Amino acid sequence: MDHFLYRDGALFAEDVPISEIAAAVGTPFYVYSTATLLRHFQLFDDALEGTDHLVCYAMKAASNQAILKTLAQAGAGMDVVSGGEYLRAKAAGVPGDKIVFSGVGKTADEIRTALTGGIRQFNVESEPEMEVINAVALELGVVAPITVRVNPDVDAKTHAKIATGKSENKFGIPIARASEVYAHAATLSGLEVIGIDVHIGSQLTELEPFELAYTKVAELTEQLRAEGHKIRRLDLGGGLGIPYTRANDAPPLPVEYGALIKKTLGHLGCEIEIEPGRLIAGNAGLMVSKVIYVKSGEDRDFLILDGAMNDLIRPAMYEAHHDIVAVQEPEAGVEQQPYDIVGPVCETGDTFAKQRNMPPLVAGDLVAFRSAGAYGAVMASEYNTRPLIPEVLVHGDQFAVIRERPSFDEIINRDTIPTWL
Ligand SMILES: *Cc1c(COP(=O)(O)O)cnc(C)c1O
Repeated sequence: MDHFLYRDGALFAEDVPISEIAAAVGTPFYVYSTATLLRHFQLFDDALEGTDHLVCYAMKAASNQAILKTLAQAGAGMDVVSGGEYLRAKAAGVPGDKIVFSGVGKTADEIRTALTGGIRQFNVESEPEMEVINAVALELGVVAPITVRVNPDVDAKTHAKIATGKSENKFGIPIARASEVYAHAATLSGLEVIGIDVHIGSQLTELEPFELAYTKVAELTEQLRAEGHKIRRLDLGGGLGIPYTRANDAPPLPVEYGALIKKTLGHLGCEIEIEPGRLIAGNAGLMVSKVIYVKSGEDRDFLILDGAMNDLIRPAMYEAHHDIVAVQEPEAGVEQQPYDIVGPVCETGDTFAKQRNMPPLVAGDLVAFRSAGAYGAVMASEYNTRPLIPEVLVHGDQFAVIRERPSFDEIINRDTIPTWL
């Protein structure tokens, strides 16, 4: 469920007409709904009710500080995957003891930044990284809390580019080697081993892979405890999928996911951490774009939009589907027609949808890409010297620009010219 609904023939974000935002900020832009963000966070928080837990929002999904602050004020922690994300979470007011540091290649500088500013735990991805965290902690005279990310060799049954839990993926240490790695970690005095971490992929639409992975984590917890390690926290990653189209079956709900966690791991008495990103932000955001031209090709019509692959890369990168709707609600009974929906970038890959049925549209009409809140704005680039598009946050009947569209001068003046030219 989201808060982007038609009212009196026009699409709204909560209580604000999309067309009003478009008139104020220009197109294209991203718009997020506060109520939807909070609702999704709350679903996870409620799903784990009765267990000691923290929902750490995976901020790589949508990392604007206004979004982070909205969620942090509701009680969310943050899962960060770079030093930049760590600093951004801190800038949004998230305390260090609610920030979890994941990511496969943390540098000594990033580790130093987090240990200096305060950190809930590092999710360690490899033995060399473990050595560096230990060395930096000793140099700073602190003890770094860590979990080790284990790779359970489970097929997440999702797009290959976002599956992370198979043995051939770069993530975590093989679960079969966990015993050895934990024994070694226990000898490093700069580290305090507090638990286990697992994250098997993104956009999972079934519970079974989670169940396989969490069952393995439960067994590992008992084994490591028997070997003398104090396992008190389990970080279970993120990955629960969202419905990208209303046409197919909806993925499992957070409440079902929470029940699975309790069933597989509840008996261990551990604190539970989860790191959802997509499910919190995905359906809480739209990308709104304008039709520049309707072009009739040999055998098809193209809708050429002012938004492009550099603004929303998911269709080009993951063959992802986004529902695209007209901001002006089509009249009942109006006949739809197929369009290829494309952006102006000079690549055939700049295609959002092929032969998509839409109501008849003309230049100047607005369209909205649904489910664009996660892995949308954060993956945008300035390819073709197109400015990063603005982000807007709606709260009831208010809206605010939370990232401005840069001017062309700002973009162009970032280049510096060598003295020999
Ligand atoms: C990307 C990522 C997440 C979030 O995944 P979603 O599919 O957006 O929920 C959580 N944890 C880690 C370690 C990640 O890399």
